[in-house]
Amino acid sequence: MEKTETYLEYLKSPEAQAVFRLSQAVTDSLREYLRTCGFVEFLPPVVSSVTDPGLRGAERLPVSLYETRAYVMSSMVFHKQVLATAFSRIYSFSPNVRLEPARNADSGRHLVEFCQLDLEEAGASLDDSMRLAEDMIVATVSSVLDRCRPFLDALDRDLSVPKVPFQRITYDDALREAAKYDLEIRYGDELPQTLEAQISREAGGFLWVTDYPKSCRSFYYRQSEDGGSVRSMDLLYPEGFGEAISGGEREYRPDVITKRILEAGLDPAEFREFLAMADTGLRPTSGFGIGIERLVRYIAGESEIARVRPFPKTPGRITM
Ligand code: ASP
Ligand code: MG
Repeated sequence: MEKTETYLEYLKSPEAQAVFRLSQAVTDSLREYLRTCGFVEFLPPVVSSVTDPGLRGAERLPVSLYETRAYVMSSMVFHKQVLATAFSRIYSFSPNVRLEPARNADSGRHLVEFCQLDLEEAGASLDDSMRLAEDMIVATVSSVLDRCRPFLDALDRDLSVPKVPFQRITYDDALREAAKYDLEIRYGDELPQTLEAQISREAGGFLWVTDYPKSCRSFYYRQSEDGGSVRSMDLLYPEGFGEAISGGEREYRPDVITKRILEAGLDPAEFREFLAMADTGLRPTSGFGIGIERLVRYIAGESEIARVRPFPKTPGRITM
């Protein structure tokens, strides 16, 4: 019988040595960039009575805290709105747990436990957030290229600084692309991962998707004037690496948030603490989340996300 590599053996391998040093360069660069822009870093919550229920088919992990229903954080989107209302420009490296369906086990890009750089800006628009994300990615890739050539070489990774502005398409454009691949997607459905990979491969660079219909995005994204779409975007990596960022402008008016919660078939009682803060005045904010492991996977050119996360848990396979 063939002996399988232990996780410790993997960690000692030249591949892991390079990957985890690249990972450190990525988080260092992101912090340096955000500090220069005046963002304040906050320690992230780990459990909360309120966390994101809209997770593209994944479930939250419920826990009982002193007999009160809580969740391990699935996204700190609501906490970001509150912090940005008080501090203007904020970010956290936030631990997230999302119980992904087993069908995502071999996607190469889903982890049950991951770290998300969550940032939020008061008074910002969707365009401001998109420009900030572009700038931040350029700064991070440039800095990794400056500091980490030997590690990129060890992984045989050919990486260059992306050109900005990134291309933009709308959800409707993406559906037209889908028709080319004979993918049947009903208007209002989420874009399947296969399509995201296809269009990001074809685009030859980073690609924004905007103007999503309300029905396939979470209730907290602000509704557009047309009423049918939301002020929200996703960023796709080049080379078929898939989704990098989700984000957008947030709804901050308590009556509209409540209406959107009800439309989504959720119970406003679950969000009462957040709604109480909205009653006392949340500022309009915009922001996004970028998964760190996916960013490192792209930078390192790894096909398996499990190679870039220490002690990875992929859907359905829970290890140390
Ligand atoms: N809540 C989004 C997510 O976790 C990120 C964001 O909108 O900032 O995918
Ligand atoms: Mg997303």
